[in-house]
Amino acid sequence: MARLTRWWPVVRRVAMIAVHTSPLEIPGSGDAGGLNVYVCQVARRLARRGIEVDIFTRATSARQPVSQALAPGVRVCHVIAGPLEPLPKDELPQQLCAFTAAVLRAEACREQGWYDVIHSHYWLSGQVGMLASRRWAVPLVHTMHTLAKVKNATLTEGDRPEPQVRVVGEAEVVAAADRLVANTEGERRQLVELYGADPEAVAVVPPGVDTAVFRPGLQERARRRLHLPEPGPVILFVGRLQPLKGPDVVIRAVAELVAKRPELRATLRLVIVGGPSGPGMDVEWLRALAAECGIAELVRFEPPVPPHRLVEFYRAATFTVVPSHSESFGLVALESQACGTPVIAARVGGLATAVQDGLSGRLIDGHDPGRYASVLAELLDDRVSYAAMRRRAVEHASLFDWERTASGLLAVYEAAVAARRRSDIASLLGSA
Ligand code: UDP
Repeated sequence: MARLTRWWPVVRRVAMIAVHTSPLEIPGSGDAGGLNVYVCQVARRLARRGIEVDIFTRATSARQPVSQALAPGVRVCHVIAGPLEPLPKDELPQQLCAFTAAVLRAEACREQGWYDVIHSHYWLSGQVGMLASRRWAVPLVHTMHTLAKVKNATLTEGDRPEPQVRVVGEAEVVAAADRLVANTEGERRQLVELYGADPEAVAVVPPGVDTAVFRPGLQERARRRLHLPEPGPVILFVGRLQPLKGPDVVIRAVAELVAKRPELRATLRLVIVGGPSGPGMDVEWLRALAAECGIAELVRFEPPVPPHRLVEFYRAATFTVVPSHSESFGLVALESQACGTPVIAARVGGLATAVQDGLSGRLIDGHDPGRYASVLAELLDDRVSYAAMRRRAVEHASLFDWERTASGLLAVYEAAVAARRRSDIASLLGSA
């Protein structure tokens, strides 16, 4: 007989699963990026509404406590699964069994029915969520963040295809999840068309931007603080350094821009904020490219910085360039606009939603550096449109709010719990 779960309140505790990256890491290198920001932001906001959130992540050091408070009502639970050191993502599938067993043990120490819902992030966590959801008889809500089939269709030079184990693993999670959360309508379509997801089971909940941190400020002051030249354009790239994100496109575009406009060479700067991500990646690849393109002295590389410092880079910039080959959303584009800095982005994935083409920035088809250079040159010449674009960027970013994301997720959790209850009751009546 099916277990009849509690009636009220619907969602009191959520088990979030983020196997491969901890919300305590600074995003911007390795595997820490938008997913970490997403998990932190929504967990804090759910907790402020009285929902307890436990985030299970793999322990990567013997110094990490078993559990650590991230904010009131939010705990990060370090799960021992495999060596206490960072592991490449490719090696994590071997640790999923140990990880899942440890999560099940943690729950078994609690009262029965402790968690009301599981929210897993990325396919590895979905695999854990699938088993825990069955064992605890609670719904599984899953967010993919990125999809192997989409990434593999947009590979660029130097990228490694996502392995088949991931493609199959994602399909399993799609089939098992009670609800899937997509960032955009486009991602929803991809889940349905590429993975056969039930359209009814996919909810679109856009991510947000923290406008308490990312808000406009004086460009001159930010440049002084960052020791950047006050006159002249500053072009910014922020993100994990890997071919998929296209940092090479920005370097080549800036080289083409100064070739077209030699007078810019004296004052223009390209700032690249972020660290290497993925096997074999390092910053030297990009330094060498900048030297090869003859703009080494114009490019400044900055290691990953926390949000309160990142905001200064956005404020200092004239434009942020996001030429990703694939992007499920692109939080960097939102953060930049929230600071009043227009974005020039590739028209891929969520970037087409994150940037309002021609108003809060520009969307470019493809990754031809010459095209990016032309758009930069055109926009740099038009001060009137630039001022309007800055205002529009702030307005556009204000449509995306983590509070709204948290409300959207809560509605998804409640719908999933309610559907489970209906089916529990139906099977109880059926077996009576
Ligand atoms: N980020 C950061 N410090 C850095 C570089 C990046 O905090 O030095 C954060 C950035 O603010 C953004 C996230 O990393 O929230 C990157 O998210 P995005 O969606 O742009 O890319 P992803 O990493 O998910 O591919």
